[in-house]
Amino acid sequence: MKNFDPELLYVECSLCGQPIIWRRGLTSKLLKMAGIDPTTLDERCVIMSEGCPACKPGETSFTTQVIRLGKEKSDASARHAAAN
Ligand SMILES: [Zn+2]
Repeated sequence: MKNFDPELLYVECSLCGQPIIWRRGLTSKLLKMAGIDPTTLDERCVIMSEGCPACKPGETSFTTQVIRLGKEKSDASARHAAAN
């Protein structure tokens, strides 16, 4: 199992849709605060932030959520199968 660097995760603001570039180390820190194990993440995961310094000036902390792109797809097909 290869090590995935959580710092490489794509971070996007869910409010204004802008990609967020934050300082190195912050992603790992946020994951730790959210209780997310970085070793369970891979390059299919993106982080959505509810707000960013651009659209919420003055805010210093934002609610973040990890979205796994591949998993959403398999969940959708599971629902489809259940409906049959
Ligand atoms: Zn924003």
